Amino acid sequence: MKHTEPYQAAVEIVQKLRDAGFQALWAGGCVRDLLLGKEPKDYDVATNALPEEVRHLFGKRRTLAVGASFGVIIVRGHQPDCDVEVATFRTEGPYLDGRRPEHVHFTTAEEDAQRRDFTINGMFYDPIIDSIFDYVGGKTDLQQHIIRAIGNPLERMQEDKLRLLRAIRFTATLRFRLDETTFHAIQTMAQEITVVSPERIAEEMRKMLVHPNREYAMELACTAGLLKPVIPELAPLWESEPNQPLWQQTLKRLEFLQSTHFEPAFAALLLDLPATDAQQRLDTVYEICKQLRFSNHELNLVYWLIEHRDSLQGASAFPLSRLKRLLAHPNFPFLLELAEADLRSRNQSLADLEFCREYRDHTPIKVLNPPPLLTGNDL
Ligand code: ATP
Ligand code: MG
Repeated sequence: MKHTEPYQAAVEIVQKLRDAGFQALWAGGCVRDLLLGKEPKDYDVATNALPEEVRHLFGKRRTLAVGASFGVIIVRGHQPDCDVEVATFRTEGPYLDGRRPEHVHFTTAEEDAQRRDFTINGMFYDPIIDSIFDYVGGKTDLQQHIIRAIGNPLERMQEDKLRLLRAIRFTATLRFRLDETTFHAIQTMAQEITVVSPERIAEEMRKMLVHPNREYAMELACTAGLLKPVIPELAPLWESEPNQPLWQQTLKRLEFLQSTHFEPAFAALLLDLPATDAQQRLDTVYEICKQLRFSNHELNLVYWLIEHRDSLQGASAFPLSRLKRLLAHPNFPFLLELAEADLRSRNQSLADLEFCREYRDHTPIKVLNPPPLLTGNDL
């Protein structure tokens, strides 16, 4: 079988560490992905070589001591996208700030496995003899499609609260189940997600919402009690209504959404945000995006999509000039995705959208570039 360049670069690094007399194994997410038959995004190597030994072996020019105090050295690849994180086997001291351990101790592979978050993320692989090292029962859980915390779930969530959201993300993106004890620990701890920085929370939200299983992710986040502390403004959707029709509607919209982008997915999540009127909803959307430290680009696009949610209504009867202006807008493709998901989720006619698509596909339209910031009255 022909391997990719990042794969070969990661084998080369393991080989070089071995030749120098060290242990070296692939670790964590890449092992999980290989067992799932997926191409890993990146490769992590775990070793008993100390950070300074890693630097000495690969040379100062090829290494970056980004996290040397935690035992992490980046070894630069000879090709783009071939950088590998080489981390010394470690155990972690207490997490004082719920984010990073106070100190680490260098140790063995077996102990290193115990500090990892979930069993499926806790395995090692020797790419030279093609052998898995599983000290945490990760292989069985992977086969049985279970996300399970390593060790005591409550303690592990307490150490690093980001794991609360990571558990939901892995469960949803892999379409696995959450182990019951792990799920109860998440429910118990859910409120404490707010101690995690908004940037890290937002990053998990991005990863969940760009994934096709976004509907499962938001449903799980809601039942685990995590969505409420992250976006409290949404909570009335599932709390105050009998049968929660608007929340079910929101989940359906996420399910029907075809986009691979984050902004239409976030807009789909907030589309039915409880509000007294449209402007107040937009003000709240703005606040939520700010609170989660979205980039200006993300904020503008999410805001614009919600502001223009109904702009395609009646498009087949628009004057030609208005239609062209609409289709030439750089945000139009995202609006089309959002509107389609919304209409489908409510079993409504897609005729106006199909008309727009048809017209666009048969008319040369110059998309405005760079995107101007248009306001509500411009379309
Ligand atoms: P992906 O990169 O697809 O999000 P991943 O499993 O590779 O998934 P990373 O964040 O890249 O996740 O981390 C690599 C490995 O480091 C994980 O597989 C896990 O073993 C460990 N890890 C990462 N974050 C944590 C955490 N918050 N707590 C404990 N272990 C973690
Ligand atoms: Mg990774």
